[in-house]
Amino acid sequence: MKYEDYIVNIPDFPIPGIQFKDITPLIGEGKAFHKAVSELAEFGKSVHATKVVGPDARGFIIGAPVACMLEIGFVPVRKPGKLPREVVRYDYDLEYGKNTLCLHKEDIRQGDKVVIIDDLLATGGTMQATIRLVEQAGGEVVGLGFMIELTELNGREKFPEYPIKVLIKY
Ligand code: AMP
Repeated sequence: MKYEDYIVNIPDFPIPGIQFKDITPLIGEGKAFHKAVSELAEFGKSVHATKVVGPDARGFIIGAPVACMLEIGFVPVRKPGKLPREVVRYDYDLEYGKNTLCLHKEDIRQGDKVVIIDDLLATGGTMQATIRLVEQAGGEVVGLGFMIELTELNGREKFPEYPIKVLIKY
């Protein structure tokens, strides 16, 4: 089974010039989804994670089953106005557009070892924002896991200090 067979490239989506990697065929195929989640869970275990954090929205789809498999908590990072309790927040640039992300402050405990899981590493802006949020909330980031890395964008250069697990590189 090759993960690449389940990723569809959509040119010029959502704006001209972007090669959008559609992961829905992969998560729609039980065996492929299970293998991807298992590999990322194995990584989370290897870095002794006590929490999984996943950014809105595809980070939820992958991060939540990783946490479930490891029997540890999942903490969602969400867009502004969605989380009802006290949040930490961070503004950043995307490959396309701008974004702000928030995290419930109390959901990360002092000493939590956090693995952050997202679908795709492009410029690394989303991951950088998520790392800042986890640190502001008092957690220690112990690893970063992605289904896909767009290597041309050199996003990983932003994170020389963290172990990184990637399932598919383009
Ligand atoms: P970045 O912050 O630039 O690393 O972008 C990562 C986030 O944007 C991920 O959460 C992806 O869901 C989304 N994203 C960025 N570029 C793409 C792309 N080419 N295809 C699919 N999703 C993308």
